[in-house]
Amino acid sequence: MASAKKGCETTPETRETEMTYVESLRCRECGRTYDVAPIYTCKWCFGPLECAYNYDAIRAVISRERIAAGPPSIWRYADLLPVDRNPAVDLGAGFTPLVRADRLAAELGLGEVWIKNDTTNPTNSFKDRVTSVALSKALEFGFKVAACASTGNLANAVAAHSAHAGLRSFVFVPANLEAGKIITTAVYGGNVIAIDGNYDDVNRLCAELAGMYPWAFVNVNVRTYYAEGSKTLAFETAEQLGWQVPDHVVVPVASGSLLTKIRKGFDELYEVGLLDEKPEVRVSGAQALGCSPVASAWEGGLDTIKPVKPDTIAKSLAIGNPADGYFALDAVRQTNGGFAAVTDDEIVEGIRLLARTEGIFAETAGGVTIATLAQLAAKGIVRADERVVAYITGHGLKTLDAVQGVVGPTATIASTLDAFHAAFNPEDLA
Ligand SMILES: *Cc1c(COP(=O)(O)O)cnc(C)c1O
Ligand SMILES: [Zn+2]
Repeated sequence: MASAKKGCETTPETRETEMTYVESLRCRECGRTYDVAPIYTCKWCFGPLECAYNYDAIRAVISRERIAAGPPSIWRYADLLPVDRNPAVDLGAGFTPLVRADRLAAELGLGEVWIKNDTTNPTNSFKDRVTSVALSKALEFGFKVAACASTGNLANAVAAHSAHAGLRSFVFVPANLEAGKIITTAVYGGNVIAIDGNYDDVNRLCAELAGMYPWAFVNVNVRTYYAEGSKTLAFETAEQLGWQVPDHVVVPVASGSLLTKIRKGFDELYEVGLLDEKPEVRVSGAQALGCSPVASAWEGGLDTIKPVKPDTIAKSLAIGNPADGYFALDAVRQTNGGFAAVTDDEIVEGIRLLARTEGIFAETAGGVTIATLAQLAAKGIVRADERVVAYITGHGLKTLDAVQGVVGPTATIASTLDAFHAAFNPEDLA
């Protein structure tokens, strides 16, 4: 089952690529290479594996026109993704709006701010991108069952994409997850297993199960491919800015994979000739104070990340022992970005600020990102002369608990004109 298919799949419908340009998997620590397979750690040093592409071959075929002629989804960038299979497992993830946020910018004393609104994905979070890639690869490898360890959003995405692809699924989540995220996973009909414990406990169990069952664990044994899906956020940002890159991006951090891959995505665009100038994008990370192991390491100038026990309303970011934490820290340092760790109150305030100024309702992770943007702006780390993109990665309807009791009716009155007029000052009604 585990052998990589080098040949062609079905006739191209949505794209011309018949096979991926991934040549091998490479260890991010020691550089040793491996054949393409459902493996994720180096046998020599246990470092994480990463897809290694033939960029010369990609450069020879890729162009802005070829991408523009592709589908309005992540699959328009198929040349830079690790999948042979066509059609892919596709619910239409990606190509989400990039919205100019002038009102938000004015409130924060910033200049040019954009919101990459990933709440509009098929299951309303950026996890649809990584899942679409991971499960496409899983089918290519011949897996019949999909699985994941999730802080919530990945569970939604894996359950939905599995249903669409006709795969059985087992998704594992912490039992204290928001009710909204359990329901929006279970509705797709797969197995949902709620674990008494936090995400790190869930993840540990899943690592054991991944060794016992022939399942495609999207963030364990096929994580190498899963992670590549996050690059599409950088690709889209550049394309939507007219093939230019932002000066500064603010990215929420759970395992640290998303942040690391957004940076890689900008670099790859230059590598294959789609950008005129070498990108210099400052990358800043957003964490909740109740789970801020990477932000703490940055603040303390440390090279090692000390695991923590999460306690925050931002459950989708509550990974106390982040697998890619070191790489995220390194990316932020190398690009001269920053980190912030924000309180639960600031998270709620961030959700409300984005909703009030831009009409975009984000989940708690989005509140973390906006509150971080505010803190970094106040500290002068994000500057008014920069073009800034903030990544809003999940929809507010998934975490209604966070704002329940904080927002509600402006007035509750009897159905009479008198009652209405008693509730408002005349000048407020003009
Ligand atoms: C998973 C997730 C992230 C960050 O994911 P990484 O593990 O750091 O790649 C950000 N926002 C939301 C809403 C998520 O669900
Ligand atoms: Zn290695």
